[in-house]
Amino acid sequence: MRHLLDLCKRRGFLFQSAEIHGGLRGAYDYGPLGVELKRNVSQEWWNSMVYGRSDVVGIDTAIITPPAVLKTSGHVDQFTDEMVDSRLSMDRFRPDKAPALKMDDRNRIPITAPDKDTAKKWEHLIRTQFAKGAIITRSGKEIQLQVDRLEKDRIVLAKDPASDNNAMPASDSSTLNIPYNGYVDPNSNSPFLTESRPFNLMFKTYLDPIDPTDKIITATLEAQQTSSDLTATRQLVDKTLYPSLTYLRPETAQGVFINYMTVQRSHPHLRIPFGIAQIGKSFRNEIRLEHAIFRTPEFEQMELEYFVAPWQAEEQFTSWRKSRIDWWKTYARNHDHIRERPHAQDELAHYSKGCVDVEYLFPWGWGEVEGIANRSDFDLDKHAEATGIKLQYTDAVLMQERQKREKETGQKETRVEVLDRERYTPHVVESSCGLNRAMLALMLDAMVVVDEDGQEVPFNIEDEGEDSKSSSNRKGLRTVMKLHPRLAPIKVAVMPLVSNNSDLVAICTDITNHLRQELTVNVALEMQSTTIGKRYYRMDEIGTPWCITVDYDTPKDGSVTLRQRDTGEQKRVPISEVLTLVQNGLRI
Ligand code: ATP
Repeated sequence: MRHLLDLCKRRGFLFQSAEIHGGLRGAYDYGPLGVELKRNVSQEWWNSMVYGRSDVVGIDTAIITPPAVLKTSGHVDQFTDEMVDSRLSMDRFRPDKAPALKMDDRNRIPITAPDKDTAKKWEHLIRTQFAKGAIITRSGKEIQLQVDRLEKDRIVLAKDPASDNNAMPASDSSTLNIPYNGYVDPNSNSPFLTESRPFNLMFKTYLDPIDPTDKIITATLEAQQTSSDLTATRQLVDKTLYPSLTYLRPETAQGVFINYMTVQRSHPHLRIPFGIAQIGKSFRNEIRLEHAIFRTPEFEQMELEYFVAPWQAEEQFTSWRKSRIDWWKTYARNHDHIRERPHAQDELAHYSKGCVDVEYLFPWGWGEVEGIANRSDFDLDKHAEATGIKLQYTDAVLMQERQKREKETGQKETRVEVLDRERYTPHVVESSCGLNRAMLALMLDAMVVVDEDGQEVPFNIEDEGEDSKSSSNRKGLRTVMKLHPRLAPIKVAVMPLVSNNSDLVAICTDITNHLRQELTVNVALEMQSTTIGKRYYRMDEIGTPWCITVDYDTPKDGSVTLRQRDTGEQKRVPISEVLTLVQNGLRI
């Protein structure tokens, strides 16, 4: 993972956001190559889910969502994680009652638990909730936290060089931070942690020209005039803010549910079963941010809501499971790194009729990249109940057929079995895939290290020690990113054998323009003045499937060298054949 993140930064795939200002935890920016790769992954998804079928259409709904939608979907009340509070940060509200936090002369903060078992529990909680990679020692009921520094509002713990967590880039070292206000509550029997409690993952925002802080202050002062009861104050603050309250959506799916009928009516050819697809940003105030872009507060989802008749749901769920696994296997090389994990009964939401995670074997273990669920009619039912609008589907063809029969026989058909098949609330089968996670999984999957002969070698960056920065400098080993050609950020690199020969450069420019025009893909004109071998290796490292070299023979015989990334094979081909060869390669 460290190897990949190093490559991502060096070659312009992924950067820590706002790095020059110290970075923001969990925020990443995609560089020129990252943006291409991400676009390609989402385009492949869209091609497969929308362009490749006649029963799915796309939609793009608003990110800012009114509370009514998310109250109805259950997110306001139930979209929670378990959280433990840091007492140190809670004590902020009563600094008058607490003495200042002190380090000892060896930069340690000593904590004494009431007994040994409690100390063990605290140690475990600190390690798992706050500071995976920090140096924490415990002896009996004494715990020592080795401190790197104390900042105005947080303790930055010292990192343990032996810890796995150090494999993360600088941004993630902030997981070692324990927020505090500089005060410890002397009356508390636990200096850190409260019992766990649910914490809503949604980001609130306010559509209001008046700063919500002003409103909060006014409401608080008003409430405190009559009582100092915190619950009553909170209720008044919530009531004051509610009219302008909105949320950043935590998933794209709800935008589809609330629009499903409008979409279907505007596209009457869509008969059940049919789907609505959406790619867009979602936001979750995740407590744990981990593994770079694996879990971030802002991420993109690629979601399909497939509307089916109740009696089709089971079969469609099975069929989508297969088709999504096949999709993953088209792009990942290591098929044994992909698996389905069916949810156990007690993991399922009460309305869910079935759910499986598609998991990828990341360097830290199996992790979810996509969820496929049979959501029943829960969402549409709830929105119908809340709005009073019937979100039922009417099968116009079946209805016309019945009406025709009725005309012919002169008899009304009133049997429930007939009418229920004509009009019903659809059930939904959902496929929900994280774009950023997919990109991370596919990059890790594609990355191999090869020796001087181009043979893949088993490789573990951790064996190479702290100083190793670029794989290309180590013992003749180098990295090749064997991305599926359609995912590759640059499809073809066209390069002159020497970059200061204007005839060769002119031919390269012509070939580049021709390929760009015909293929509408990213073609690079590679003009670096390093050796041709080094240029090939740089292209291998970022996953470019084909390199075309124009040399001194090209003006004479109209041929170029075409080099394949995965085999290193080079062959002489006429310029006129290059387009077809690349086109065929992209069809795989
Ligand atoms: P997890 O259990 O990892 O938190 P989840 O079950 O909450 O994921 P879903 O609600 O099913 O995730 O969302 C569908 C997909 O969206 C996930 O499979 C994942 O790929 C992606 N996803 C969810 N949360 C995040 C996040 N915070 N950062 C990046 N991707 C995410």
